[in-house]
Amino acid sequence: MDRRVRVRFAPSPTGPLHIGGVRTALYNYLFAKKHGGDFILRIEDTDQTRFVKGAEEYIQESLKWCGIEPNEGQGYGGDLGPYVQSERKPMYRQYVDQLIEADKAYYAFDTAEELNEQRENAKKQGLPGWQYNAVTRQYLKNSTSLSADEVQEKLYAGEPYVVRIKLPRNEEVRFHDEIRGWVVVNTANMDDKVLFKSDGMPTYHMANIVDDHLMKISHVIRGEEWLPSAPLHVLLYKYLGWEDTAPKFAHLPLILKPDGNGKLSKRDGDRLGFPVFPLQWTDPKTGDISSGYRENGYFADAFVNMLAFLGWNPGTPQEIFSLEELCEAFTLERVGKSGSKFDPDKTKWFNQQYLREKSGAELAELIKPQIGADVSDEFLAGVCELMKERASFTHELLADNYFFETPSEFDEKTIRKKWKEHTPQIIEELTAKYESLNNWTSAEIEKTFKDFLTEKELGMGAVLPNFRVLVTGKGMGPSMFQISELLGKEEVIKRLKSGIEKLVQA
Ligand code: GLU
Repeated sequence: MDRRVRVRFAPSPTGPLHIGGVRTALYNYLFAKKHGGDFILRIEDTDQTRFVKGAEEYIQESLKWCGIEPNEGQGYGGDLGPYVQSERKPMYRQYVDQLIEADKAYYAFDTAEELNEQRENAKKQGLPGWQYNAVTRQYLKNSTSLSADEVQEKLYAGEPYVVRIKLPRNEEVRFHDEIRGWVVVNTANMDDKVLFKSDGMPTYHMANIVDDHLMKISHVIRGEEWLPSAPLHVLLYKYLGWEDTAPKFAHLPLILKPDGNGKLSKRDGDRLGFPVFPLQWTDPKTGDISSGYRENGYFADAFVNMLAFLGWNPGTPQEIFSLEELCEAFTLERVGKSGSKFDPDKTKWFNQQYLREKSGAELAELIKPQIGADVSDEFLAGVCELMKERASFTHELLADNYFFETPSEFDEKTIRKKWKEHTPQIIEELTAKYESLNNWTSAEIEKTFKDFLTEKELGMGAVLPNFRVLVTGKGMGPSMFQISELLGKEEVIKRLKSGIEKLVQA
């Protein structure tokens, strides 16, 4: 029987969550939902020197905003906790001892200075990539080279040590990655990584494997930067006797800079003017503020839709997917191997699509708090309906203030090009027609306008720009007939009259 799908998002709380991290969380979430499984949040804080205050809360808030909350884990409860590695500290030692007993790990007593010296010497001899491995360990200070008595003595004396994995000198490690296919690495190209430190803290590798095992993780879906660690992880499962229940691996492609040259970083966002974080972040030490998608006016569902497409595609032309639809459509088979370029314009495009899908009333509800003017919900909904075709963000719906106040200036270019000597008279006649129009709908306003043009043998270009500039002050905008309907007969006539007056005087 297939085992229950259990996936985890395992960020380290070292700062705000980069959009690459959010995408990893999203793919885990989608995979879990698709298979009716569990999505777990585990905080990997074994490296206490890199701990950043507020990062854990930031991660939780980000997942919440995106609507991709875990159903188990830190902040969500569950039977296999604690879900923070520093709180699991006492759980790791026994597995390290198990590895040492099985001769798959060993104590190493070398100081940082000694190791540096080795590195420097090797460099001088033209061998830059020095490593602690099956060859070098023979002449270093560890339990494979020292006698058992010497080792006991050092341990007894409380000499600081680390525990390292004991890799075979020349052995192929093979595993199947759900995205990349077969991956083969020779241990000759790997080093004896540190698994445990004498302060009782495991390193990332050890804690990660023990936790994934104890938390019954079925699939490890994570960023490509962890691919080089995967062979080590595969060996750890083997050495701990957990091969049968080892998770499947899926390493996600990188998110690249817009020009495709390297991994997307915060600096690219700063340089090109877009956020790389879901939410705004204030650095607790420097007070520096980094912008976030939420604060920049993005809809969470548009942001999530965009992220889903950074590395995955449904194999059909459909681009707009709700979260439920993504859960349905998502498969690891359709995640690409190569990096995806981040496209800030496409990101805006997604937001625009979501904005257009919303009704005027829904949008009005969203922008209401930003309105100073006293206007009815209905009027505001009308403004949104008219403006949404030209906006990508809700704040852009309020870009045109003529909905809320009589224009005090008139677009200079329109006046220069279109305002002719006979224009005041034409507009006065048009105003008279409108004064006697009772059914003030955009269709009727348009019909009256066109009939007037025919009667006067005038072209659109001679009248419409002037009509627009008098009512709105602008040279361009949404349909003038719809704007007029929304503003109301009285207001339009008032603006036409006062506009002519001002322009004639000028
Ligand atoms: N703690 C690692 C990170 O910060 C997790 C890697 C993994 O998912 O195994 O990305």
